[in-house]
Amino acid sequence: MTTGIETAIVVEDEPEIAELIRFHLEQMKLRVQIAGSGRRGLVLIKAAPPTVILLDLMLPDLSGLQVCQRVRAATETAATPIIMVTAKGSEADIVAGLEAGADDYVTKPFSPRVLVARVRAALRRVKRESDPGVRADRLSLYDSRLCIDLGRHLVTVDGKPTDLTITEFQLLHYLACRPGFVRTRDQIIAAVHGRNTILSSRTVDVHITAIRRKLGDIGPSIETVRGVGYRFSEVGEREPSFATD
Ligand code: CA
Repeated sequence: MTTGIETAIVVEDEPEIAELIRFHLEQMKLRVQIAGSGRRGLVLIKAAPPTVILLDLMLPDLSGLQVCQRVRAATETAATPIIMVTAKGSEADIVAGLEAGADDYVTKPFSPRVLVARVRAALRRVKRESDPGVRADRLSLYDSRLCIDLGRHLVTVDGKPTDLTITEFQLLHYLACRPGFVRTRDQIIAAVHGRNTILSSRTVDVHITAIRRKLGDIGPSIETVRGVGYRFSEVGEREPSFATD
């Protein structure tokens, strides 16, 4: 989607929650459709692929995971952002959802601030990826303070080169490609694996610690998402992972 009105499809079987999500998305000027079941959601999504999908995991017919897999499998919606809306604290479900292709999640009962931040991150990503002026081999983040140059294998902070190792570089690039979106440790391992590198969950954590240190005051932009993985946050969108804790 390049121009025109941004749209959202909310797949949620609890009407009060669906209406609450609709309210907040409409405040963001999104046009919203609600589906009360997984099958209905797939019908709506296929009929008019939306800009973003908000997906409950516990649904009456198809599960949210099944919906997620089918949305990803269809060419037209392979890259559509999917934000899961899940019961608080079900980390295993969240990890399964991310690995089924969801981009991010909010936990119920959700904080409107967190919901809006997640949806904004999704819309920014869609804009960035549809902008022909953006160079895929060079990422400029954090008000351009952080630059990741894929071609030159170079990361600079405020113009100064950092001394990231190759694995650290790949890991940072993987997270920073999609700012605001959570990646599980297994996704990170799969992405960085294979270039004479064998990672475990524990070594991912060690590399992240090293990257944070080498990035100086930008280091905290790599957030730990407890029980799930890591997320690279852009300026102004850092939020507690479990806002209601
Ligand atoms: Ca539900």
